[in-house]
Amino acid sequence: MSEPVCFPITPGIDFYCVVGNPIAHSLSPTIHRAFAAQLGERMEYVRVELPPDGFTEALKAFVAQGGRGMNVTVPFKEQAFAACAERSPRARLARAANTIIVEPGGLCRADNTDGEGLVQDLKQNLGVRLEQRDVLLIGAGGAARGVIGPLFEAGIRHLTLLNRTAARATALAADFPDHAVTPGPLDLSPDHPCDVVINATAGGLDGQRPDIAPGWVGPDSLCYDMVYGAGAASFLDWARACGAARCADGLGMLVEQAAAAFRIWRGSAPETAPVLAQLRARMGDMAR
Ligand code: NAP
Repeated sequence: MSEPVCFPITPGIDFYCVVGNPIAHSLSPTIHRAFAAQLGERMEYVRVELPPDGFTEALKAFVAQGGRGMNVTVPFKEQAFAACAERSPRARLARAANTIIVEPGGLCRADNTDGEGLVQDLKQNLGVRLEQRDVLLIGAGGAARGVIGPLFEAGIRHLTLLNRTAARATALAADFPDHAVTPGPLDLSPDHPCDVVINATAGGLDGQRPDIAPGWVGPDSLCYDMVYGAGAASFLDWARACGAARCADGLGMLVEQAAAAFRIWRGSAPETAPVLAQLRARMGDMAR
């Protein structure tokens, strides 16, 4: 049994946090504090590492202590979804929550802004047109699940879904029966290059890239890794060598999903471009 979590809440100041394990690397406090400063919002946002079995108790403590909203990252997104009394349609589609809203009476609402973050980054920051596009999505974990619905809402024509464990791709595709999703193993042969190729696997953090055929990437393809910084290098270096027109890491997605959460919590929309530029400068990482 873990110790009860005591959140560092200052009375009278709206309190938010991001929870995960590990969490020390999280840029979310930097991003949300920048948004709050930009909009003159009086709030606190911190990162909190929870023990692997500690999410549900921590959420109860957070609500009891007066917390207003929580971001959730690996490995707690599914537990966050399960622990909330109300769930947005997109959280239901993803079966996972990255954002929790605590209502004044203590009711918790689950939402998922990851898909909105990816689509915003592709469209707004990278200028990618998604209507009628063919997309290759690699990975069938929580992140992949969360972006499929929003990609189709943004107008894509077809999604090929490849995963190391092919059965997971098949099962995930079956959850989108009204959409044009073709699942397969990583070594599926391409019939043509895709307009957008998205790596949603977790291997990049260990320097690994999914072993897909180079034929998925063409001279007009945008290749995107949801991981940001050095973790995106193995996939994006490979994509450049395959002749990809453009490459991008997931830092913009991170900032955009945060902006969507901030808007839900505070009711006002921050400008993301200066925050993204500030983070890129700080990381010294020009992946795009
Ligand atoms: P997850 O649920 O644990 O899923 C991991 C996925 O990666 C699975 O499909 C797994 O395949 C695959 N995988 C892991 N190692 C691999 C390897 N060496 N080769 C090929 N495939 C491999 O994780 P997740 O929540 O979906 O997150 C995936 C990544 O997206 C993480 O790195 C996360 O940090 C990132 N992410 C970024 C943002 C952002 O805002 N930028 C938001 C969400 C997630 P199997 O099914 O075969 O195990």
